[in-house]
Amino acid sequence: MAPNTADERERPPEIGVAFDAVVVGAGFAGLYMLYRLRGLGLTARIYEAGGGVGGTWYWNRYPGARCDVESMQYSFSFSEELDQQWDWSEKYAPQPEILAYANHIADRFDLRQNIVFNTRVTAATFDETAKCWRVETDRGDRVTARFCIMAIGCLSATNHPPFRDRESFRGPIYHTGEWPHEGVNFAGLRVGVVGTGSSAIQSIPIIAQQASALTVFQRTATYSVPAWNEKLSPEYRRAIKADYPALRAKARARPTGFYFPFNMQPALEATPEERERQYEEAWKRGGLPFLGAYGDLLFDKAANDTIADFARRKIRGIVRNPATADLLCPDNVFGCKRLCVDTGYFETYNLPHVKLVDVSKTPIERFTAQGIEVNGTEYELDAIVCATGFAAMTGSFEKIRIAGRNGLTLAEKWQAGPRAYLGVASAGFPNLFTITGPGSPSVLASMIQAIEQHVDWMADCIAHMRDIGAATVEPVEKYEDEWIEHVNEVSKVSLRSTCSSWYVGANIPGRPRVFMPYIGGFPVYVQKCNEVMSNGFEGFVMDGANAKNEHPRVRLTERWRVPLDIEVISPAAVAARRVPVV
Ligand code: FAD
Ligand code: NAP
Repeated sequence: MAPNTADERERPPEIGVAFDAVVVGAGFAGLYMLYRLRGLGLTARIYEAGGGVGGTWYWNRYPGARCDVESMQYSFSFSEELDQQWDWSEKYAPQPEILAYANHIADRFDLRQNIVFNTRVTAATFDETAKCWRVETDRGDRVTARFCIMAIGCLSATNHPPFRDRESFRGPIYHTGEWPHEGVNFAGLRVGVVGTGSSAIQSIPIIAQQASALTVFQRTATYSVPAWNEKLSPEYRRAIKADYPALRAKARARPTGFYFPFNMQPALEATPEERERQYEEAWKRGGLPFLGAYGDLLFDKAANDTIADFARRKIRGIVRNPATADLLCPDNVFGCKRLCVDTGYFETYNLPHVKLVDVSKTPIERFTAQGIEVNGTEYELDAIVCATGFAAMTGSFEKIRIAGRNGLTLAEKWQAGPRAYLGVASAGFPNLFTITGPGSPSVLASMIQAIEQHVDWMADCIAHMRDIGAATVEPVEKYEDEWIEHVNEVSKVSLRSTCSSWYVGANIPGRPRVFMPYIGGFPVYVQKCNEVMSNGFEGFVMDGANAKNEHPRVRLTERWRVPLDIEVISPAAVAARRVPVV
C-alpha cells in the first residue's frame, strides 16, 4: 500500500485553489467519484476526515465487523479486470479485508494523489456570482470548486446518547463506529455492551470469548439470521468469475441491488407445513436472503407474523434460559428494523458469564464510576462498548454548514426531514450532488451498487453540462416535492415504515420522523433516473447553456439499463406498482 500524501498533519492549508470538483469523503463513494471525475479530465480534491480511505471500513474496526451482503457482490462492478483479479477469502469478508480492498482501489487507480486525509470539511457556501462552491476545512483550507460532491456516507455520524454522568465512569468507553486502530484486549475484564443492533450482534460473541463477564443492555430485541459464513473455495470463486457480468446484471435487476433466490409466492397461500419447510430451508441458507422466503413478508402483517413466529421459535430453541429467551424475542415486525446477520449471537447467552439487562421500560439511568445503573441496580464494569449506531442518512450533513442560494442552509431546508430530488441533489443548492442521498435506495440496496449507479449518473450529468456549456444544474422544486411525496407514499405500503428504526430517524430522540431511503426498489429507481436523463435531465434546470438541453449522450449510465421485470423485482415493485412512480 502506498503511503498517504506527504505528512498531512504538517501540511500547509490550501488557500485559493480552484478545483473543478471537491468531493467530501474517501469511502467507496468518494473513491469511485474521484475516479470518474478524473476520467472526465476534471481537477478534483477529496477531503477526508479519517486518516485513510475506506470510510465505514476505516472506522468500524470492532471485533467481528464484516459485511452481510456476500463479498462477491458487495464489491465494485465497474472494472471486469478488478472483478477477475481480486479474490475474496470468505463469503462475508471481515473488515480488514474490505479495508484492504478499499486501499487496493486507491492504489490501483492512482487516487491518493488527489486525497487529503485528516481533514474535515466544515462549510460549503455557494457563491452565486462566481457560480462555484467555497469550501472550508478544519485545517484552514479555503478552496473553490464548481461542483461539490457529498460522499459523506449514510452511516458515518456516530450516535452518542447523552447518558447521565457518562464522564464519571472510570474505565474506557468505546463506540463500535470509532474503534481504536490498535484493537482492544478485553481479556479478564467485565464488559458492558449497550445496544443490540448489527454492530452489537457481530461483536458480542467475540467480546464474550475474551471478557471475564459480559453484560448486554438491550432496549429493543433484534431479529437475527445466521450467516453461515465460510471460506470461499477457489472452485466457487472460479465458477462466479466464469460469468461475473451475468451475476452483476442479475443483481442490478433486484430490488436490493444484489442477487439471491427469491420466492414470489405469498406466505399465506402456503400451508403451515409448507411454510415451515420453506422457512427451514431459507434459514439453512441464512443471511439477508432469509427475507426472500416469500414475496409478501414486508407488505402483509399476517404474512409477516408467520416469519416472525418462526424466528422467535428459533431463538427459544437456541437460548436455554426461558426468561432470557423471552427478552431476546422481538415483538415488532420482522425485517422492519434492519435485519441482522450473526455468527453465534443467541448461543452466546447460554454462556454462564453473559447476562442480558432489559432497558426497554426502565432506561439506563446513568453511568457511575463503577459501571451502569438501571432501575436502581448498579452493574459493575471495567469497560463499556456503545454499539449505539448512527445519526443515519443526514447526520454527516448536519455537521457541515452548507449554504446554497440566498444563504439558505441545508439544515434549515431539511429541518422537517431531508428534501432531495431522486436523492441526488436539492433545489436551491446548485452543483451540489449527494451520493446515496436521502430519497434514493441507498441503505435499502447493496450500497456499493447504489454508489456506482449514482456516481455514473452524476458523471454523465456533469459531462452533459460540459457538452452544452451549462454552468449550473439544480432540481426544480416542483419535481423535488413530487418525488418526496412519492418516496413517502411508497414507504407507507411497506411494513418497514411501522417501527421506530433509524430508517425513519426514530433511533435518536428529537429527529423528524420521515422514511428517508426510497423503498420502491433499486431497478424501479434506476429506471426513473434513466428516464430523467434521456428526457434531457427532466426536472433539473441547467443554467447558462449555449446549446439545447436535449438528447444527452449516455456514457456511463448505459450499463444500468436493465429490463424492469415487475414480477421478479417484487416486493419493492409491489409498492411502486400500487403507488405509481412519478
Ligand atoms: P462511508 O463509507 O461512510 O464514507 C464516508 C466518509 O466520509 C467517511 O470516511 C467519513 O470520515 C467522511 N466524512 C464525513 N463527513 C466528512 C466531512 N465533513 N469532511 C471530511 N470527510 C467526511 N452496506 C452494504 O451494502 N452491505 C454491507 O454488508 C454493509 N455492512 C456495513 C457494516 C457496518 C459496520 C456499517 C457501519 C455499514 C455497513 N454498510 C453495508 C453500509 C456502508 O456504510 C456502505 O456499504 C458503504 O461502505 C458506504 O460508503 P460511502 O463511501 O458512501 O460512505
Ligand atoms: P443500530 O442498528 O442503530 O443499533 C443501535 C443499538 O443501540 C440499538 O439496539 C439501539 O436500540 C441501541 N441504543 C441506541 N441508543 C440507546 C440508548 N440510549 N439506550 C439503550 N440502547 C440504545 O446501529 P448499528 O448496530 O451500528 O448498525 C447500524 C447499521 O449499520 C445497520 O442497521 C446496518 O445497516 C449497518 N451495519 C451492518 C453490519 C453488517 O452486518 N454488515 C454491521 C454493523 C452495521 P433501539 O433499537 O431501541 O434504538
